[in-house]
Formats: sequence, C-alpha cells, structure tokens
Amino acid sequence: MSFNSLGLSDALLKAISKKGYTTPSPIQQKAIPPILEGKDVLASAQTGTGKTAGFTLPILQLLSQGQHLRQRPVRALILTPTRELAAQIFANIKEYSEFLDLRSAVIFGGVNQKPQAAQIRQGLDILVATPGRLIDLQNQGLISLAKVEILVLDEADRMLDMGFVRDIERIIKVLPSKRQNLMFSATFSKDIKKLAMGILHHPVHVEA
Ligand code: AMP
Repeated sequence: MSFNSLGLSDALLKAISKKGYTTPSPIQQKAIPPILEGKDVLASAQTGTGKTAGFTLPILQLLSQGQHLRQRPVRALILTPTRELAAQIFANIKEYSEFLDLRSAVIFGGVNQKPQAAQIRQGLDILVATPGRLIDLQNQGLISLAKVEILVLDEADRMLDMGFVRDIERIIKVLPSKRQNLMFSATFSKDIKKLAMGILHHPVHVEA
C-alpha cells in the first residue's frame, strides 16, 4: 500500500515525501481512510507506530477541503497529556502542512500564557493543547471552542492516569455536539472504555 492510494492530496503527499516516508505504517493504513470519511475512530496504538501522522494527515486534508471561516476559529482540537507530546504533534503538523493554507498552534502549561493567547487571537485552524492550560485560557475567555469540528484525544490512557478526566469532560461540554471524534490509546481499561463510550459515536475500531 502507498500513501497515494490512501486518498491524500498532492500537497500532503509532497510533505510526506519530503519527510522521507515511503510506506504508510499499519495504523496509518487502517486509521486514515475512516477518518477521511468523517467517521469516529477508536484506535489502539502505542507511541512509535506512526499514530501521530495517522490522525494529523487526514485532519489536515479534511480541514483544507473545507471552507475557511473568516475569523479562523479552531476547527480541530487535539488534546494530549504532556507538553512534550503536544510540542511533538505540533512539530509534525507544521511539517505536514507546509504546502497547505492552514494555521496551527500549541499551548501547554508551565510557560507564560501571553504569547499563546496572542497566537490564538490571530486565528487558528488547528490547536494542540494540554487540558489544564486549555481550561485556563477558556476560563479567561481567551479562546472559543464553539466551532470545533474534529476532536482528538491522544494517549487517552495517560490523560486518565494523570487525572485529566474532569478537564476533558469540561472541555467537551463547550464543543459543538455534532463533531468527529478520534481517540488513541495504548491500553483499554474499563475507565478508558467508559470515556470512549461517552464521547465516540459508532466508532470504527482500529489496531496498530
Ligand atoms: P509516532 O508513533 O507518531 O510518535 O511516530 C513515530 C516516528 O515514526 C516519528 O519519528 C515519525 O516521524 C515516524 N513515522 C511516522 N510515519 C512514518 C512512515 N509512514 N514511514 C516512516 N516513518 C514514519
């Protein structure tokens, strides 16, 4: 199987080839088609399987196909447990979107929020965030999530372990109820299944 046959746009294929990827990894082969079809996906995948490209590539394609809203509200929200992961996902998005007209930003705690708030004010298509900082900015009225079309919970099991379940629930409450949901987790405990059941709508299950 090739990236070509997954139905990705030329702009994305160019960025993928610039990265040096030749073949989609198993999780990419399985997750990209249903995500492009607009379905909810529940994916079982560890770090190192190429899961990040597995959700970022189709999201970039879906957003670049859609209409830009004039004020560029956040249309894709990616929640992840740590600042390291957030920074890594953001770096990948930057590379994959080189040939697309999409704006992205990353926010996480432990650093001054001012530059993050300034970036949000300028308009964004994609936001990568850790839950705590996102809630802080939201509580201060510095970010609107009312136009989110796609929600990703990356490393959902680690987010639960780190005690983010309340924050995730609070964030979901302010999202439009009609949206596409993607959840990635390395393990599937009872609590993860419960979270998935509450968030995902008839998900397609994929495994790396
Ligand atoms: P991840 O599991 O998303 O953290 O990705 C693990 C590593 O695999 C990262 O360094 C990616 O840049 C790399 N990678 C992702 N997809 C591919 C691919 N299709 N071919 C080669 N490397 C890849």
